[in-house]
Amino acid sequence: MATITERYQSAANSKDLTAKAGREGDVDAIVAVAWNRSRVGAALMRLHSDWDGLAKRGGKLEQTYLQLKALSEVRGNILLWARERRMEDAGNKVDAVLCWWLEPACQSCNGTKWIVKEHQPNRPCNVCRGTGEAKIPYGTDGIAMLAYIGSCMHRAQASIRGKMRPQGVKS
Ligand SMILES: [Zn+2]
Repeated sequence: MATITERYQSAANSKDLTAKAGREGDVDAIVAVAWNRSRVGAALMRLHSDWDGLAKRGGKLEQTYLQLKALSEVRGNILLWARERRMEDAGNKVDAVLCWWLEPACQSCNGTKWIVKEHQPNRPCNVCRGTGEAKIPYGTDGIAMLAYIGSCMHRAQASIRGKMRPQGVKS
């Protein structure tokens, strides 16, 4: 059986989607991928709001990460995405990137961009170089993974907006 990615690739290569749709289900494959990203995006939102709630109560990410709701769904999907791209050490990368995504603040300045000491002028944080954010883990792989996370979130938000649009209004 063809994987969803293989079906998506064959669909993307089709010259005439509508003509082929009835026969081969190519459009179905594209819809399935779009739906899947939207579903992962919704799970990502649940993951983030669960973490936000714990963080407000003083939770530490390294202690609560594995207990976060929706983690297994999110982690499993991104792992699949990473393995389809033949990313080495995918499991560690997914965890590191998810932790960065949940808590991107620089540890040194707590995201404030400044180092504040008594009786000294404030100076920009030299760990994050004044950005307030920790370095994205695993270089280009980490950046690609964050882009995938962003695209899933975007799909989920678009689908929520679609559902909230008043009936009878065409987009
Ligand atoms: Zn900093």
